Amino acid sequence: MPKAELETDRDDAEQEAARLAALVSTGILDSEPEPSYDAIARLAAEYFQADAAFIGFGDESRVWIKSHWGTAVRELPRKDSIFERVLAEDGPVIVSNSSKRPQAEGQLLVLKVLDMPFFASVPVRSFDGKILGLLNIFFREPRCEMVPDELRMLENLADMAASQLELRRLRKAFTAQKSRRARSSVAIADAPQSWPRRQDLRRALEQHQFVLYYQPEIELSTRKIVGLEALIRWVHPERGLIPPMDFIPMAEESGLILPIGDWGLSEACSQIQTWCREDSRHSSLRVLVNLSARQFSREGLADHVEALLLQTGISSRQLGLEMTESSLIPNMRTALEVLGSLRRLGVSLLMDDFGTGYSSLNYLHSFPFDVLKIDRSFVGRMTDGDQPMQIVRTIIELARVLGMDVVAEGIETCEQYRLLRQLGCRFGQGFLFARPLSSEAVTQLLRLPGRVLPEPKACEALCGRSRGV
Ligand code: C2E
Ligand code: MG
Ligand code: MG
Repeated sequence: MPKAELETDRDDAEQEAARLAALVSTGILDSEPEPSYDAIARLAAEYFQADAAFIGFGDESRVWIKSHWGTAVRELPRKDSIFERVLAEDGPVIVSNSSKRPQAEGQLLVLKVLDMPFFASVPVRSFDGKILGLLNIFFREPRCEMVPDELRMLENLADMAASQLELRRLRKAFTAQKSRRARSSVAIADAPQSWPRRQDLRRALEQHQFVLYYQPEIELSTRKIVGLEALIRWVHPERGLIPPMDFIPMAEESGLILPIGDWGLSEACSQIQTWCREDSRHSSLRVLVNLSARQFSREGLADHVEALLLQTGISSRQLGLEMTESSLIPNMRTALEVLGSLRRLGVSLLMDDFGTGYSSLNYLHSFPFDVLKIDRSFVGRMTDGDQPMQIVRTIIELARVLGMDVVAEGIETCEQYRLLRQLGCRFGQGFLFARPLSSEAVTQLLRLPGRVLPEPKACEALCGRSRGV
């Protein structure tokens, strides 16, 4: 064999080995399908009105169908399948009208199984660009060519599958690291007791050491403050200002999150009432309170919120409740009932940290959320390359399709701010505009004409004189 050909073969083999290593690191082949993949397949089928849809991943010889909507088999030989064509073309393969009916017998293998001759197949890539699988939609009847927007939507859905795959890889790596640590750690009993203990938190509550800070949420096109996220802090007499992640886990574990959470809700409602008293135009503001898992296991939560609204005299439109997917998992049935009652009260429900959970899309279908908050890890990576950017684009598009508002969290740079507006994201919050502030500092900000924050200094410098946005 000539030397050049030998080298090409070696390159191909190396690429294939790298592709397989990336796939194995996600652990997707040896697992059950996840609800998030089912939801992506279903969403793709619904969006394109396809007769079937599936997500599959290919190892060296087979394509494993991990989730599907409509008819599908569990696995297929990889040889001569659509997957081979997607790999060969290093991109999408589309057969959408009768003039392009696929001819080659081998290439019809997957289609024959489904008995659907028209399809669109786009790659699911790892974060470093390797094709690991594919997202397919199938049609019984010929359909028009895919327009660029449709193809982009399908690719965005495939990117969403890719981000789930990445999360799965991180989870797997994290679990392995944790068990290594557990094995190597000796004499745990000798370790100093971690701080804070239950009694520290109890005392903090009794001695009124908790305070709420508020981070403005703005309309990105005008920089007008439309909401304020309440974020708890512990003002410790010796240790200073303690961030929530240092004590919320213990509060949850000890059950003290219930009285602490009740205090936070009541404090936030009173505060917004105070701001409205100062200026009645602030009644269009919404205060957003974070709730944790334990608070949802209480069936009386909606009654409690209703009583608070009556007591403080604020309207339900002025209150929003933020929760993460993981807080809903422990008791799904109760969570669903509680969310339904809260929704009937008229308070807004926000899904926090969207994209980082286990099965985001599935929950979006099941729970009555009004707003999606894009997790700041995605916003932070937006300028790192195409894929994170596509994920943000997909989340925004997904929210649009589902009729939800989107808030981008953690905006720190002018570039992120510009890109988010370009992608049609309406709302955001982040250090670029304002850090979480004391209620007194927020009172000053609310006095700005029209509640409009000034253009961030960094952006002014970048764009020349302030031109507004
Ligand atoms: P979260 O609800 O996702 O809140 C957003 C977090 O991102 C806040 O951290 C905020 O300070 C931070 N953040 C906002 N903008 C930026 C930015 O541009 N860059 C960076 N790097 N960070 C930004 P914080 O206040 O430390 O709160 C952490 C988490 O603690 C919250 O995440 C929320 O899950 C939880 N938490 C806060 N207050 C409460 C509460 O009253 N009850 C419960 N159950 N959880 C709370
Ligand atoms: Mg939040
Ligand atoms: Mg968040």
